[in-house]
Amino acid sequence: MMLKPGSTIGVLGTGQLGRMLCSAAAKLGFRTAVFGPDADGSPAGEVATMVRQAAYDDLAAVKVFAEEVDAVTYEFENVPAATAATVTEAGGVLAPPAAALAASQERVREKDFFRSLGIKTVDYWPVASADDLGRALPEAGPSILKTCQFGYDGKGQASLQGAEDPVKVLADLGGGPWILEAKAAFSREVSQVAARGRDGAITFFDLAENEHRSGILHRSVLPAQASDSVREQAQTATRSVLEKLDYVGVLTVEFFDCDGELFANEMAPRVHNSGHVTHEACSTGQFEQHIRAVAGWPLGDTRTLIPSEMINLIGHDTDEWRALTATLGASLTLYGKKETAPGRKMGHWVRPLNI
Ligand code: ADP
Ligand code: MG
Repeated sequence: MMLKPGSTIGVLGTGQLGRMLCSAAAKLGFRTAVFGPDADGSPAGEVATMVRQAAYDDLAAVKVFAEEVDAVTYEFENVPAATAATVTEAGGVLAPPAAALAASQERVREKDFFRSLGIKTVDYWPVASADDLGRALPEAGPSILKTCQFGYDGKGQASLQGAEDPVKVLADLGGGPWILEAKAAFSREVSQVAARGRDGAITFFDLAENEHRSGILHRSVLPAQASDSVREQAQTATRSVLEKLDYVGVLTVEFFDCDGELFANEMAPRVHNSGHVTHEACSTGQFEQHIRAVAGWPLGDTRTLIPSEMINLIGHDTDEWRALTATLGASLTLYGKKETAPGRKMGHWVRPLNI
């Protein structure tokens, strides 16, 4: 399957990732259609050729959408399984495949999946009740409790020491089921953004080094300084994920780097915030690479041409847009979100490291 320019790529999801995917698709001559409950006037909806406003579980609307576009992709991993199934049952081409959603939507399943491939993770305990937590917590000691689903940007997480009251902890965090993870003593965090084409070809971007603040990505540097061993661990793990899932598109694996030993934290079956820097730094950025893969085109060259850093603009950080545009070498991207809120990703900027 190879989509011709002028074909329409459908995107499930309406946020900034969808927006940047639509721009990349337009660059290659594609039309785009964005689907979501708030699609009208959304960051993605404002740059798409077409907007289809409906709930993700409105399967009749999903079926119509799958029939009117030439391929369907998504910008978030919480696409319901029934929605993904409806796309394929309607004869639609879904990329990445539904198996990638199943493997990444739920944190216990995700870590089980990593381990089944021989990929190292921190120790973890599934938690369905205060009793489960009461048993696991003393064993885990310093740890992080996370809701298994719908967490992002550090939301749905609690940092624990090991002696807390399980009942109170679960009541405070809410949600559930949960996963308790041993706290990684990492020296830094890195991520591997990679892509697999319809022909099975795999490309890797350079490793990115990521700094988080309050659970939210603050800064990514490309390329991370990394030994051959670290690069190889990241690529080997990511390759086995891509191949096991018969994956098509861009996928990201986040790692804790514990003195040269990598532990997979989580994966995202989509373009990733730590990959935004590739748009300015590499010959082919992650958004174009994803569109190429979805369209069945040859993947582009991923070499880093301009070593660069990306800084996220959170909440009112974007009020500095005027100064940022005047900063030497800075490339500013704003997501067009109508409302600014504390902790909300509003934009980002990239600049070469040597400036
Ligand atoms: P999210 O879906 O919110 O990105 P993550 O699991 O990636 O969830 O957690 C966000 C951040 O919290 C991580 O990038 C890391 O800085 C920290 N963190 C998460 N899990 C652990 C852990 N087991 N040990 C140490 N730090 C962690
Ligand atoms: Mg994360």
